[in-house]
Amino acid sequence: MLRTVFGTDNPATLPVSATGSGGMDALVANFVEADDRVVVGVNGLFGERLCDAVSRLGADPVRVEAEWGRAIDLEALIAAVPGADAVCVVHGETSTGVCQPVDGLGEACGENGALLLLDCVTSLAGQPVLLDEWGVDAAFSGTQKCLNAPPGLAPFTAGARAIEKLRARREPPRSWFFDLSLVLGYWDAEGGRVYHHTAPINMIYGLAEALRIVLEEGLEARWERHRTAHGALRAALAELGLERIAPDGEELWPLLAVRLPEGVEDAAIRGPLLTEHGIEISGGLGPLAGRAWRIGVMGEGARPEPQERLVRTLAQLMGRNAVPAVEALEAGWSTAAR
Ligand SMILES: *Cc1c(COP(=O)(O)O)cnc(C)c1O
Repeated sequence: MLRTVFGTDNPATLPVSATGSGGMDALVANFVEADDRVVVGVNGLFGERLCDAVSRLGADPVRVEAEWGRAIDLEALIAAVPGADAVCVVHGETSTGVCQPVDGLGEACGENGALLLLDCVTSLAGQPVLLDEWGVDAAFSGTQKCLNAPPGLAPFTAGARAIEKLRARREPPRSWFFDLSLVLGYWDAEGGRVYHHTAPINMIYGLAEALRIVLEEGLEARWERHRTAHGALRAALAELGLERIAPDGEELWPLLAVRLPEGVEDAAIRGPLLTEHGIEISGGLGPLAGRAWRIGVMGEGARPEPQERLVRTLAQLMGRNAVPAVEALEAGWSTAAR
Protein backbone atom coordinates (compact mmCIF):
# COMPACT_ATOMS: atom_id res chain seq x y z
CA MET A 1 0.00 0.00 0.00
CA LEU A 2 2.85 2.39 0.74
CA ARG A 3 4.36 1.67 -2.67
CA THR A 4 1.09 2.59 -4.33
CA VAL A 5 0.78 5.81 -2.35
CA PHE A 6 4.40 6.80 -3.12
CA GLY A 7 4.00 5.90 -6.80
CA THR A 8 6.93 3.49 -6.72
CA ASP A 9 7.87 -0.16 -7.21
CA ASN A 10 10.88 0.10 -4.87
CA PRO A 11 11.19 -3.11 -2.84
CA ALA A 12 12.77 -1.07 -0.02
CA THR A 13 9.59 0.74 1.01
CA LEU A 14 8.82 0.69 4.71
CA PRO A 15 7.80 2.89 7.62
CA VAL A 16 10.77 4.10 9.68
CA SER A 17 10.08 3.94 13.43
CA ALA A 18 10.09 7.69 14.05
CA THR A 19 8.11 10.80 13.17
CA GLY A 20 8.66 12.57 9.85
CA SER A 21 11.79 14.26 11.20
CA GLY A 22 13.28 10.81 11.78
CA GLY A 23 12.52 10.06 8.14
CA MET A 24 14.62 13.09 7.21
CA ASP A 25 17.49 11.96 9.41
CA ALA A 26 17.24 8.45 7.94
CA LEU A 27 17.31 9.86 4.42
CA VAL A 28 20.47 11.91 4.86
CA ALA A 29 22.19 9.43 7.21
CA ASN A 30 22.03 6.70 4.56
CA PHE A 31 22.46 8.57 1.30
CA VAL A 32 24.80 11.43 2.21
CA GLU A 33 28.42 10.96 3.25
CA ALA A 34 30.96 13.29 4.80
CA ASP A 35 32.46 15.58 2.14
CA ASP A 36 29.63 14.90 -0.32
CA ARG A 37 28.48 17.90 -2.29
CA VAL A 38 24.74 18.15 -1.65
CA VAL A 39 22.45 20.60 -3.40
CA VAL A 40 19.64 21.64 -1.05
CA GLY A 41 16.60 23.60 -2.12
CA VAL A 42 15.82 26.20 0.54
CA ASN A 43 12.61 28.24 0.50
CA GLY A 44 11.30 27.64 3.98
CA LEU A 45 11.83 26.03 7.37
CA PHE A 46 12.04 22.43 6.18
CA GLY A 47 14.63 23.23 3.52
CA GLU A 48 16.67 24.92 6.26
CA ARG A 49 16.38 21.76 8.35
CA LEU A 50 17.61 19.61 5.47
CA CYS A 51 20.60 21.92 5.15
CA ASP A 52 21.29 21.61 8.85
CA ALA A 53 21.00 17.80 8.73
CA VAL A 54 23.34 17.60 5.72
CA SER A 55 25.91 19.89 7.40
CA ARG A 56 25.88 17.82 10.57
CA LEU A 57 27.05 14.81 8.54
CA GLY A 58 30.09 16.76 7.43
CA ALA A 59 28.81 17.15 3.88
CA ASP A 60 28.96 20.35 1.92
CA PRO A 61 25.47 21.81 1.34
CA VAL A 62 25.04 23.96 -1.74
CA ARG A 63 21.96 26.12 -1.18
CA VAL A 64 19.66 26.95 -4.06
CA GLU A 65 17.21 29.42 -2.60
CA ALA A 66 13.95 31.18 -3.22
CA GLU A 67 12.14 33.65 -1.01
CA TRP A 68 9.75 32.12 1.53
CA GLY A 69 6.39 31.70 -0.20
CA ARG A 70 7.77 30.99 -3.66
CA ALA A 71 8.87 27.79 -5.41
CA ILE A 72 12.55 27.46 -6.27
CA ASP A 73 13.45 28.17 -9.88
CA LEU A 74 13.75 24.72 -11.49
CA GLU A 75 16.40 25.88 -13.95
CA ALA A 76 18.56 27.03 -11.03
CA LEU A 77 18.14 23.67 -9.29
CA ILE A 78 18.95 21.75 -12.47
CA ALA A 79 21.97 23.99 -13.18
CA ALA A 80 23.38 23.09 -9.73
CA VAL A 81 23.23 19.32 -10.33
CA PRO A 82 26.52 18.69 -12.22
CA GLY A 83 29.19 17.77 -9.69
CA ALA A 84 26.69 17.06 -6.90
CA ASP A 85 26.43 13.71 -5.12
CA ALA A 86 22.84 14.34 -4.07
CA VAL A 87 20.03 16.85 -4.43
CA CYS A 88 17.62 17.32 -1.50
CA VAL A 89 14.29 19.01 -2.11
CA VAL A 90 11.19 19.59 0.01
CA HIS A 91 8.20 18.73 -2.17
CA GLY A 92 5.57 20.30 0.08
CA GLU A 93 7.04 23.22 2.09
CA THR A 94 4.65 23.28 5.05
CA SER A 95 6.12 26.49 6.44
CA THR A 96 4.88 28.51 3.46
CA GLY A 97 2.29 26.38 1.60
CA VAL A 98 4.39 25.97 -1.53
CA CYS A 99 4.66 22.82 -3.68
CA GLN A 100 7.99 22.48 -5.46
CA PRO A 101 7.82 21.29 -9.08
CA VAL A 102 10.50 18.71 -9.86
CA ASP A 103 10.05 18.25 -13.64
CA GLY A 104 13.34 17.36 -15.27
CA LEU A 105 15.23 17.26 -11.99
CA GLY A 106 15.24 13.46 -11.76
CA GLU A 107 16.58 13.25 -15.30
CA ALA A 108 19.36 15.75 -14.55
CA CYS A 109 20.29 13.83 -11.40
CA GLY A 110 20.30 10.52 -13.28
CA GLU A 111 22.58 11.90 -16.01
CA ASN A 112 25.00 13.33 -13.46
CA GLY A 113 25.12 10.41 -11.05
CA ALA A 114 23.47 12.39 -8.24
CA LEU A 115 20.72 11.00 -6.02
CA LEU A 116 17.42 12.89 -5.92
CA LEU A 117 16.08 12.88 -2.33
CA LEU A 118 12.61 14.21 -1.54
CA ASP A 119 10.69 15.29 1.57
CA CYS A 120 7.06 14.34 0.85
CA VAL A 121 5.76 14.72 4.39
CA THR A 122 2.91 17.08 3.62
CA SER A 123 2.25 16.23 -0.01
CA LEU A 124 1.89 12.44 0.27
CA ALA A 125 -1.74 11.39 -0.32
CA GLY A 126 -2.85 15.03 -0.66
CA GLN A 127 -1.26 16.04 -3.97
CA PRO A 128 0.29 13.93 -6.73
CA VAL A 129 3.49 12.17 -5.63
CA LEU A 130 4.85 9.96 -8.42
CA LEU A 131 8.33 9.03 -7.31
CA ASP A 132 9.24 6.54 -10.05
CA GLU A 133 7.86 8.73 -12.81
CA TRP A 134 9.82 11.69 -11.45
CA GLY A 135 13.07 9.74 -11.04
CA VAL A 136 13.24 10.23 -7.26
CA ASP A 137 15.80 7.93 -5.65
CA ALA A 138 14.61 8.09 -2.05
CA ALA A 139 11.90 9.87 -0.12
CA PHE A 140 10.21 10.06 3.25
CA SER A 141 6.91 11.20 4.68
CA GLY A 142 4.98 11.27 7.95
CA THR A 143 1.77 9.63 9.07
CA GLN A 144 -0.10 12.57 10.59
CA LYS A 145 -0.44 14.85 7.59
CA CYS A 146 -2.55 13.73 4.60
CA LEU A 147 -2.41 10.05 5.55
CA ASN A 148 -4.58 11.09 8.49
CA ALA A 149 -3.05 8.63 10.99
CA PRO A 150 -1.53 9.44 14.38
CA PRO A 151 2.05 10.76 14.34
CA GLY A 152 4.83 8.27 14.94
CA LEU A 153 6.02 6.68 11.70
CA ALA A 154 7.94 7.95 8.71
CA PRO A 155 6.95 6.16 5.48
CA PHE A 156 10.22 5.73 3.59
CA THR A 157 11.31 4.40 0.23
CA ALA A 158 14.63 3.91 -1.52
CA GLY A 159 15.28 2.84 -5.12
CA ALA A 160 18.06 0.77 -6.66
CA ARG A 161 20.49 3.66 -7.20
CA ALA A 162 20.11 4.78 -3.59
CA ILE A 163 20.66 1.24 -2.27
CA GLU A 164 23.71 0.95 -4.52
CA LYS A 165 25.15 4.13 -3.02
CA LEU A 166 24.42 2.79 0.47
CA ARG A 167 26.27 -0.46 -0.29
CA ALA A 168 29.25 1.44 -1.73
CA ARG A 169 29.65 3.91 1.16
CA ARG A 170 33.21 4.76 2.21
CA GLU A 171 32.15 4.42 5.85
CA PRO A 172 28.94 3.09 7.46
CA PRO A 173 26.12 5.54 8.20
CA ARG A 174 26.89 7.46 11.39
CA SER A 175 23.46 6.66 12.79
CA TRP A 176 23.12 3.10 14.06
CA PHE A 177 19.34 3.30 14.45
CA PHE A 178 18.66 4.69 11.00
CA ASP A 179 21.19 2.51 9.13
CA LEU A 180 18.94 1.12 6.41
CA SER A 181 21.23 -1.82 5.66
CA LEU A 182 20.74 -3.06 9.25
CA VAL A 183 16.98 -2.44 9.11
CA LEU A 184 16.72 -4.28 5.79
CA GLY A 185 18.44 -7.26 7.45
CA TYR A 186 15.32 -7.59 9.55
CA TRP A 187 12.73 -6.40 7.11
CA ASP A 188 13.76 -8.14 3.96
CA ALA A 189 13.51 -11.64 5.52
CA GLU A 190 15.93 -13.35 3.07
CA GLY A 191 18.15 -15.57 5.20
CA GLY A 192 15.91 -15.04 8.23
CA ARG A 193 15.05 -11.94 10.17
CA VAL A 194 17.87 -10.39 12.17
CA TYR A 195 16.62 -8.45 15.20
CA HIS A 196 17.24 -4.73 14.87
CA HIS A 197 14.77 -2.80 17.00
CA THR A 198 11.24 -3.25 18.30
CA ALA A 199 8.91 -1.58 15.83
CA PRO A 200 5.99 0.39 17.34
CA ILE A 201 3.48 -2.17 16.14
CA ASN A 202 0.48 -0.16 17.36
CA MET A 203 1.50 2.53 14.88
CA ILE A 204 2.00 -0.03 12.11
CA TYR A 205 -1.62 -1.13 12.59
CA GLY A 206 -2.69 2.51 12.55
CA LEU A 207 -0.80 3.22 9.35
CA ALA A 208 -2.10 0.05 7.66
CA GLU A 209 -5.68 1.09 8.38
CA ALA A 210 -5.02 4.67 7.25
CA LEU A 211 -3.59 3.37 3.97
CA ARG A 212 -6.62 1.14 3.45
CA ILE A 213 -8.84 4.18 3.89
CA VAL A 214 -6.71 6.18 1.40
CA LEU A 215 -6.92 3.43 -1.22
CA GLU A 216 -10.62 2.87 -0.61
CA GLU A 217 -11.23 6.52 -1.47
CA GLY A 218 -8.76 6.18 -4.35
CA LEU A 219 -5.49 8.07 -4.55
CA GLU A 220 -6.57 10.29 -7.43
CA ALA A 221 -9.95 11.05 -5.86
CA ARG A 222 -8.14 11.94 -2.66
CA TRP A 223 -5.76 14.32 -4.45
CA GLU A 224 -8.75 15.87 -6.16
CA ARG A 225 -10.58 16.32 -2.85
CA HIS A 226 -7.57 18.12 -1.40
CA ARG A 227 -7.40 20.33 -4.49
CA THR A 228 -11.09 21.19 -4.18
CA ALA A 229 -10.84 21.80 -0.44
CA HIS A 230 -7.87 24.11 -0.98
CA GLY A 231 -9.63 26.08 -3.70
CA ALA A 232 -12.87 26.40 -1.74
CA LEU A 233 -11.14 27.56 1.43
CA ARG A 234 -8.95 29.94 -0.50
CA ALA A 235 -12.03 31.58 -2.05
CA ALA A 236 -13.77 31.80 1.34
CA LEU A 237 -10.79 33.36 3.10
CA ALA A 238 -10.31 35.85 0.28
CA GLU A 239 -13.80 37.15 1.20
CA LEU A 240 -12.37 37.86 4.65
CA GLY A 241 -9.41 39.73 3.17
CA LEU A 242 -6.98 36.84 3.63
CA GLU A 243 -5.06 36.29 0.39
CA ARG A 244 -3.01 33.20 -0.36
CA ILE A 245 0.77 33.70 -0.30
CA ALA A 246 1.70 31.10 -2.93
CA PRO A 247 1.05 32.24 -6.50
CA ASP A 248 -1.09 30.12 -8.83
CA GLY A 249 0.69 26.96 -9.88
CA GLU A 250 2.99 26.92 -6.83
CA GLU A 251 0.38 26.12 -4.18
CA LEU A 252 0.49 23.16 -1.86
CA TRP A 253 -3.05 21.78 -1.71
CA PRO A 254 -2.77 20.35 1.83
CA LEU A 255 -1.62 23.63 3.34
CA LEU A 256 -3.13 27.03 2.71
CA ALA A 257 -0.94 29.90 3.91
CA VAL A 258 -2.55 33.34 3.80
CA ARG A 259 -1.24 36.82 4.48
CA LEU A 260 -2.81 38.79 7.33
CA PRO A 261 -4.39 42.06 6.21
CA GLU A 262 -3.48 45.38 7.86
CA GLY A 263 -5.05 45.74 11.28
CA VAL A 264 -5.59 42.03 11.94
CA GLU A 265 -3.48 40.94 14.86
CA ASP A 266 -2.32 37.31 14.73
CA ALA A 267 -2.59 36.32 18.40
CA ALA A 268 -5.85 38.23 19.00
CA ILE A 269 -7.63 35.88 16.60
CA ARG A 270 -5.63 32.67 16.77
CA GLY A 271 -5.70 32.62 20.60
CA PRO A 272 -9.49 32.59 21.09
CA LEU A 273 -9.93 30.45 17.97
CA LEU A 274 -8.10 27.72 19.87
CA THR A 275 -9.06 28.35 23.49
CA GLU A 276 -12.72 29.28 23.00
CA HIS A 277 -13.60 27.38 19.82
CA GLY A 278 -11.22 24.44 19.83
CA ILE A 279 -9.90 25.16 16.33
CA GLU A 280 -6.16 25.28 15.80
CA ILE A 281 -4.47 26.97 12.89
CA SER A 282 -0.77 27.81 12.77
CA GLY A 283 1.07 31.08 12.59
CA GLY A 284 3.70 32.15 10.12
CA LEU A 285 7.31 31.06 10.60
CA GLY A 286 10.62 32.77 9.90
CA PRO A 287 10.11 35.93 7.84
CA LEU A 288 6.33 35.29 7.88
CA ALA A 289 6.05 35.20 11.70
CA GLY A 290 3.09 37.32 12.83
CA ARG A 291 2.20 38.07 9.21
CA ALA A 292 0.58 34.84 8.02
CA TRP A 293 -1.67 31.98 9.00
CA ARG A 294 -1.05 28.42 7.91
CA ILE A 295 -4.17 26.31 7.70
CA GLY A 296 -4.11 22.55 7.33
CA VAL A 297 -6.17 21.13 4.47
CA MET A 298 -5.17 17.57 5.24
CA GLY A 299 -7.02 14.27 5.36
CA GLU A 300 -10.35 14.63 7.18
CA GLY A 301 -9.68 18.35 7.56
CA ALA A 302 -10.13 18.67 3.81
CA ARG A 303 -13.94 18.44 4.11
CA PRO A 304 -16.68 21.08 3.85
CA GLU A 305 -17.89 20.72 7.48
CA PRO A 306 -14.70 21.58 9.37
CA GLN A 307 -13.91 24.26 6.80
CA GLU A 308 -17.29 25.91 7.28
CA ARG A 309 -16.87 25.89 11.05
CA LEU A 310 -13.46 27.54 10.64
CA VAL A 311 -14.71 30.16 8.20
CA ARG A 312 -17.73 31.11 10.35
CA THR A 313 -15.63 31.34 13.50
CA LEU A 314 -12.86 33.36 11.85
CA ALA A 315 -15.42 35.78 10.43
CA GLN A 316 -16.96 36.20 13.88
CA LEU A 317 -13.60 36.80 15.59
CA MET A 318 -12.53 39.23 12.86
CA GLY A 319 -15.85 41.10 13.08
CA ARG A 320 -16.65 40.35 9.46
CA ASN A 321 -19.81 39.16 7.72
CA ALA A 322 -19.55 35.39 7.34
CA VAL A 323 -22.19 35.04 4.60
CA PRO A 324 -20.11 35.84 1.49
CA ALA A 325 -17.26 33.67 2.79
CA VAL A 326 -19.51 30.69 3.48
CA GLU A 327 -21.14 31.14 0.06
CA ALA A 328 -17.72 31.14 -1.59
CA LEU A 329 -16.83 27.97 0.30
CA GLU A 330 -20.01 26.24 -0.80
CA ALA A 331 -19.53 27.38 -4.39
CA GLY A 332 -16.00 25.98 -4.34
CA TRP A 333 -17.24 22.59 -3.24
CA SER A 334 -20.29 22.46 -5.50
CA THR A 335 -18.39 23.44 -8.66
CA ALA A 336 -16.16 20.47 -7.98
CA ALA A 337 -19.08 18.08 -7.59
CA ARG A 338 -20.40 18.92 -11.05
C1 LIG B 1 5.76 17.95 9.44
C2 LIG B 1 6.94 17.97 8.53
C3 LIG B 1 8.16 17.34 8.85
C4 LIG B 1 8.45 16.73 10.19
O1 LIG B 1 7.59 15.74 10.56
P1 LIG B 1 7.33 15.41 12.11
O2 LIG B 1 6.38 14.26 12.03
O3 LIG B 1 6.76 16.64 12.72
O4 LIG B 1 8.62 15.03 12.73
C5 LIG B 1 9.16 17.34 7.90
N1 LIG B 1 9.00 17.95 6.70
C6 LIG B 1 7.86 18.59 6.38
C7 LIG B 1 7.74 19.23 5.05
C8 LIG B 1 6.80 18.63 7.28
O5 LIG B 1 5.67 19.28 6.98
